[in-house]
Amino acid sequence: MQPEMNVVMLGHVDHGKTSITKALSGVWTDTHSEELKRGITIKMGYADVNIYKCSSCKGAEAYSVSEICPICGSESKLIRKFSLLDAPGHETLMTTAISASSITDGAILVIAANEPCPQPQTAEHLNVLEVLDVDNIVVIQNKIDIVGIEKAKENYNQIKEFLKGTKAENAPIIPMVANQGLNIDVLLKTVYEKIPLPERKPTNKLRMYIARSFDVNKPGTELQKLNGAVIGGSIIEGKIIEGQEIEISPGIIIDKKKGEFEPIITKVQNIRTGNDKVSEAGPGGLLALSTLLDPALAKSDGLVGQIVGLPGTLPSAVKKLKMKYKLISRELEDNSNLSLQLNEPIVLSVGTAITVGVIISMKKDLIEVTLKRPIVVEKKSKVAISKRAGNRWKLSGYGIIE
Ligand code: GDP
Ligand code: MG
Repeated sequence: MQPEMNVVMLGHVDHGKTSITKALSGVWTDTHSEELKRGITIKMGYADVNIYKCSSCKGAEAYSVSEICPICGSESKLIRKFSLLDAPGHETLMTTAISASSITDGAILVIAANEPCPQPQTAEHLNVLEVLDVDNIVVIQNKIDIVGIEKAKENYNQIKEFLKGTKAENAPIIPMVANQGLNIDVLLKTVYEKIPLPERKPTNKLRMYIARSFDVNKPGTELQKLNGAVIGGSIIEGKIIEGQEIEISPGIIIDKKKGEFEPIITKVQNIRTGNDKVSEAGPGGLLALSTLLDPALAKSDGLVGQIVGLPGTLPSAVKKLKMKYKLISRELEDNSNLSLQLNEPIVLSVGTAITVGVIISMKKDLIEVTLKRPIVVEKKSKVAISKRAGNRWKLSGYGIIE
């Protein structure tokens, strides 16, 4: 079965995201150390999570990630399958958090009880959820084992105060000890209830955002035995069928000097979700497509940020954007100036695509930007805009494409 949805996990570095992912999935693909070496990339940690419910147990105890209920040993029913996207909390990887949040159906915000709230990335991550309109949020108050009850209460009040006036104002706050798996059942129950399956409208067009891409061949594989490029991501609209032709845009660079790209047409050889092969897939969690493309194209996330559609149905890639801009309403604790200036370099995130641009005109809330790399955008779509603050990028606000 295909994962039914994506849930992004955000939070300040060291607050327990990796521990929570491990507890929820048992399987963990840690790509973070590589990411930190490479600087800003959109590569993120991920895991598929299965929520099981026991028919004999009551309350949160009925929820687990195991087919056999860990409390009473009864068989449990699979009630939800989702892809957990772990956006690294490191401050230089804000754009990764933005990309992951742009394909998500809900969020888990992790806050550690042993540090004052909010820590810098906690505040920024909440801004990301606000800007990208992520409504279904569950908050974890982690590491309660290392603070006393009074400190935990004080921290809880800080969290409440921090969330006031935001989308997460009424979000449930779950106390946890992630590295011991304590309260994982409560987390599962809460995620199941508070992050509902979104309604998916059937449409004729296909849109998939590429969030990962790989060359799955071992070095030295004979030419005839080579597997084509594999692309991973989420379908936002429509469906994909095994054997179908797809177009990937902006595609490959054909003129380095002019920075011109040409879309690629290829065929879907097979579709994988987690360990399963499926013959067709629709919107929901992460999936991976094997294609007939040169695997070199997909190596090291080479196709990340591109968009997949049926041939001839994607808007052309553009190198100039006009949009209505809205500044973030909440200031950061460090009082960074987040407003944009003419001629300033900015980072734009649209879906999983990230590109650098320069503001060439500003009239009231209307800005025009030239891009270093072309991107595929649809009218009215939302662009998250980050600006340079010190030696890193901070989310400044968003634009709506004119
Ligand atoms: P991340 O940076 O958000 O992914 O955080 P990690 O999951 O890597 O956790 C950072 C450190 O905190 C690790 O050494 C964990 O073992 C530890 N840790 C995570 N959760 C808890 C908790 O609830 N209690 C305690 N005492 N330590 C924790
Ligand atoms: Mg981590």
